[in-house]
Amino acid sequence: MEKLIITVALTGNVPTKKMNPNLPVTAGEIAADVKRCYDAGAVLFHVHTRDADQKPTLDLNVYKENARRIKELAPEVILQLSTGARAGKDWEERVNPVRLMPEMGSFTTGSNNLPGIVYENSPPFIEYLAKVYQETGVKPEIEVFETGMINNAVFLQKKGFIQAPLHFDFVLGAPGSMPGTTKNLQFLSESIPAASTWSVAGIGKAEIPLSAAAIVMGGHVRVGLEDNLYLPDGSPASNPLLVEKIVRLAREIGREIASPDEARTLLALDPSRKNRILNML
Ligand code: ZN
Repeated sequence: MEKLIITVALTGNVPTKKMNPNLPVTAGEIAADVKRCYDAGAVLFHVHTRDADQKPTLDLNVYKENARRIKELAPEVILQLSTGARAGKDWEERVNPVRLMPEMGSFTTGSNNLPGIVYENSPPFIEYLAKVYQETGVKPEIEVFETGMINNAVFLQKKGFIQAPLHFDFVLGAPGSMPGTTKNLQFLSESIPAASTWSVAGIGKAEIPLSAAAIVMGGHVRVGLEDNLYLPDGSPASNPLLVEKIVRLAREIGREIASPDEARTLLALDPSRKNRILNML
């Protein structure tokens, strides 16, 4: 079986330090958490940013500061900047993180309900963001909350906006979206084009069980406080603790952990683009 790529969704837009004091929010805290998670075995980092009041922001300067601090502390890691909508709905603001030339960006290819909001990704916005991925050569991680989002991504690939092999992340268990069951994970993982790679992001209590399923099935794993604030025993999680748990599970099952460069090969990332972001900071 392929080596396991461990992604960490460090902060997200919704959690607060009040919900879990281990949540990293400042650039310094986020970079330090990346380093701890990297030392524990994670290689890919899904980054959201917060302003001075700890509120979600798409401010490019904050993204730059976060990327700079992360690359200083853990230069080898793969950065994936978020293009999510909770921090703002302005199209330019949402696509700007991709223009910073990280190795990867997130790309939700459809709309769905999330707690309190419609997570809106209209067809014109999807095509606009796809063009920015095409122009920049940044690899998108297709965030799939519903099956139709797979079809939308395949359509964009056929139109030449995004390139195979595609990488999907199945976000399962968010209230209002597909439930976090192994049945759904099986279905989605069998619904993507051959030669694609995939990971699962189980939300809340689904995080660790679906991670275990993905390890067995040959997929990859995303964990982190963006998706889940607790360990299975109900105590507060931290990003490094979640990574350590996944590494232990993988070892017990006999799956080895991918290094950053091994993950780049598995994800078909162009190694010459590894540090393009440094020229943008
Ligand atoms: Zn996110």
